[in-house]
Amino acid sequence: MKYCPECRSELTRRVIDGKERLACVNCDFVVWGNPVPVAAAVVEYDGGIVLVRPRAKPAVWALPAGYVEDGENAEQAAVREVKEETNLDVRINRVIGTYPINRPNKALIYIALATETIGGELRAGDDALEASIFTVYQAIEKLRGTTSGKALESYLMADKLQMQKV
Ligand SMILES: [Zn+2]
Repeated sequence: MKYCPECRSELTRRVIDGKERLACVNCDFVVWGNPVPVAAAVVEYDGGIVLVRPRAKPAVWALPAGYVEDGENAEQAAVREVKEETNLDVRINRVIGTYPINRPNKALIYIALATETIGGELRAGDDALEASIFTVYQAIEKLRGTTSGKALESYLMADKLQMQKV
């Protein structure tokens, strides 16, 4: 963004509220860069953890996740995304944690939720190339170094694993 969308004047970098931000030289417009919420779900199924290869990022495995839509809360978004990507029906148990992700052109806030699977048969949906069940250790390995991975590790530590460790 180079020009103010309000008044078309130039945007310059300056410190506002303790942080350097792009702001209009003429009016009050500031590019705040507020994060966009993403809801993600840890889903246990058939003794393992469900991961997907999203169509948008086919090289990686991730927790089922997606943008929160207008009018939804994060829980509703997670339930919807799990259904779309894995065909499973879940309900939300609790918030695992929230994680800021700073990409060059977009800040995200990744909201990870613990779920309980209440129905459906696992199969990849429209938004996923693949949906599979992994053991806890495989899932940790697949997600290592990612925000999904951090969320999964917090989940496992907090729940002390009811499921069988294989
Ligand atoms: Zn302006």
